[in-house]
Amino acid sequence: MLAAAAETAERAVETGTRGSGGDRTLVLDRTAESIVLEQLAGLHDAGFDFEAISEERGEVSFGGDGVRVIIDPIDGSTNAKRDALHYAVSVAVADGPTMADVVFGFVHDFGCEEEWWAASGRGAFRNGVELDPTLPERRARDGKLELVGIESSDPRWVAQSIDGLLASAHRLRALGTIASTLCQVAAARFDGMVTLRRCRGVDAAAGQLIVREAGGLVSFPDCPLPLGAPLDATASSHLVAARSEDGLRELLRVPA
Ligand SMILES: [Mg+2]
Repeated sequence: MLAAAAETAERAVETGTRGSGGDRTLVLDRTAESIVLEQLAGLHDAGFDFEAISEERGEVSFGGDGVRVIIDPIDGSTNAKRDALHYAVSVAVADGPTMADVVFGFVHDFGCEEEWWAASGRGAFRNGVELDPTLPERRARDGKLELVGIESSDPRWVAQSIDGLLASAHRLRALGTIASTLCQVAAARFDGMVTLRRCRGVDAAAGQLIVREAGGLVSFPDCPLPLGAPLDATASSHLVAARSEDGLRELLRVPA
């Protein structure tokens, strides 16, 4: 599908509606979602029952039974539209309603063609190679985290969070996709990440498990429990991830 719409002009066509998460839907998002849902329909035909929760269509029942499949067909749609760097499909499988209940996470980054996955208790992998869960964070000479990813990087929100970022980060990186940014923390390429606005369950569900299985820490601070964010398309909490308790504590001071 991406190869068939290689140019920005083809990729920028909007459907004229907004997804269940509120973003303006591109034909690209809608088509990607159809491709994923077709695959899920095939699994249901093969005898598997589950509930799908997707960015654009919201809940789609494939027989129920308590298993949830959480999909962001394209995380980083603006990048996908421009064929710019990172954008990914994100799929998570859970046996309950919150981030803590995710048992499998899969992120395929189409920009750099990296495939990430994690299974609860079985570690995290990039292109088939297990990630080292002992990799530490790096600090600059001034003690700040060397590289911190920021998402929801509208300049107005960056301005509102700037004091917290000044206090904790030596350098910032803004990839434009929460799923891929979480994977950078999982691989210890970034020392942590923060979203400057509340993120949606569909964006974070798979990536947060990949971080945790790779030895990192994740918190959704606007929820009663750190991993209590719901697995849906509503923007329920900021997201903070880091490789150490200290890093997490410092980055939790960033969001307003
Ligand atoms: Mg999306």
